[in-house]
Amino acid sequence: MPPVVEQIYDDVLRRNPGEVEFHQAVREVLESLAVVLTRHSEYTEMKTVERICEPERQIIFRVPWQDDRGEVHINRGFRVEFNSALGPYKGGLRFHPSVNLSIIKFLGFEQVFKNALTGMPIGGGKGGSDFDPKGRSDAEIMRFCQSFMTELYRHLGEYTDVPAGDIGVGSREIGYLFGQYKRITNRYESGVLTGKGLGWGGSLVRTEATGYGAAFFADEMLQARGESFDGQRVVISGSGNVAVYGVEKVHQLGGTAVACSDSSGYVVDEKGIDLDVLKQVKEVERGRIGDYADRVASATFVEGGSIWDVPCDLAIPSATQNELDGDAATTLARNGCRYVVEGANMPSTPDAVRVFREAGIAFAPGKAANAGGVATSALEMQQNASRDRWTFEHTEARLEEVMRGIHARCHETAEEYGSPGDLVLGANVAGFLQVAEAVHALGLV
Ligand code: NAP
Repeated sequence: MPPVVEQIYDDVLRRNPGEVEFHQAVREVLESLAVVLTRHSEYTEMKTVERICEPERQIIFRVPWQDDRGEVHINRGFRVEFNSALGPYKGGLRFHPSVNLSIIKFLGFEQVFKNALTGMPIGGGKGGSDFDPKGRSDAEIMRFCQSFMTELYRHLGEYTDVPAGDIGVGSREIGYLFGQYKRITNRYESGVLTGKGLGWGGSLVRTEATGYGAAFFADEMLQARGESFDGQRVVISGSGNVAVYGVEKVHQLGGTAVACSDSSGYVVDEKGIDLDVLKQVKEVERGRIGDYADRVASATFVEGGSIWDVPCDLAIPSATQNELDGDAATTLARNGCRYVVEGANMPSTPDAVRVFREAGIAFAPGKAANAGGVATSALEMQQNASRDRWTFEHTEARLEEVMRGIHARCHETAEEYGSPGDLVLGANVAGFLQVAEAVHALGLV
C-alpha cells in the first residue's frame, strides 16, 4: 500500500472490523489513488478520500415473513446509502443467503465509482437481504418483498434513493417491491425503482444492459489493440441476467461464447451456446445449467469444477464476487487467454488480478465494464421523469455510447496518470475525480 494512503486504509480496517469484502474493495481503489493525492493536496487537506470511504447512512432492519406452510422466518434487510454527491443513491438489491453488511458495503462502495464513470447524475448505494429465493413459491417471494419494502420505503424516493435488481432480484421482485411502495405511499412514483416491467414504467434494454454493456466494453478493448470479436472464443461464467445477455451480444459482435455456468457446474458447447435453449432453461423454467446439456447434443455438463479450465481468448466472469482466484487466473493465462472483462462485481481476487498483470492479460474491472446496467437504469429514470418511452434502438445506442465513453475515459486517465493500458487505475482515478470534485464543491456535509 503506498504510504500516502496507508493511514486511510488502516483507519478503514479499524473502523470496519471483519468486513473482508469491503476492505478488499477499498484497498483496490486506494492503491490507485496515491498518484492523485500527490497532485491534488486539497483532497488530503479536506479528507476527501476518508469521507468517500465512509457511507453517508447504513440501514439494517428486520424482515419477518411467513412461508406457505405458515412457518415464520426472520431475515435481515440492508440498505447502505454510500454517497449522494452526484445524485440520489442508486444501486441494486441483492437477495442471497451470503448477504451481510460487508458485502453490501463493498458493492455500495464500488457503485459510487461506477455511477460516476457513467457521467450520469447518480450517487451510489446498495442493499439487499440474506433471504434465499431459491425454491420459494411466487406467493412466498411476494410476501417477503412486501415485508422488506414495508420498512425500506421510508428511506426511498426518486430524489433520495432509487434501488434496482441484482442477484436474486429480477423484474418479478421489482414488481412486488414497487406494488408495496405504491400502496404504502399512495404515489405512482415510477422513478423510485428501476428494472421495472415494460408495461409499467420499465425501459427497453434494461434487461439486456449489463451483459450488452460488458460486451461493448470488451469490443473497445479489442479495438484498442487492433483486434475485433471475429473468431474470438469467449467463456462467460454464470447464467443469470448478466451472463445471458453477455452471450447474446458477444454472438452479435462476431465472437463465440462456448461455456457458461451456475453454482452446480458448467456447460461447454463448442458450437457456441444456443441462446434460445439457455433462455428457456434459465429465464422461463428457472432450471439448472445441466438441463441445457440434456437438450443440446453438442454440449457437455461438468458438475462442480472450474469453468476457468475451459480455454478461451476472452473471459467474462459474470456470476459473483471472488469467483476467479489466482489458480484459475494462472490456468486462463496458460491456456492463452488475453482479455478478462468483469461482468460481475469484483469477481477476480487480488491474486487473480496480479496474475493477469504479470501475464500481460488486458483486464477491465467491473466498475467500468458492468456499468451498462446502472447507466440504463438512469435512462429509465429519464424516461419516467419525462413520461416518455424510447425505442429499443435509441436506448441501445445510448447504452453503447456510454460504454464506449467509459472505456475512453479509463484509457485516457490511465495515460494521463502515467500507467497506459491500466484500466484499473484509469477507472479508479476517473471515478474518484468525478466524485471528489462534487464532494469538495458541496462543502463539509
Ligand atoms: P443473477 O441473475 O442472480 O445470476 C447470477 C448467476 O451467477 C447465476 O447463474 C448463479 O447461479 C451464478 N452464481 C452465483 N454464485 C455462483 C458461484 N459461487 N459459482 C458459480 N455460479 C454462481 O445475477 P446477475 O444480475 O446476473 O448478477 C451477476 C453479477 O453481476 C453480480 O456480481 C452482480 O452484482 C453483477 N451486476 C449485475 C448487474 C445487473 O444489472 N444485473 C449490474 C452490474 C453488476 P445459481 O443460480 O446457481 O446461484
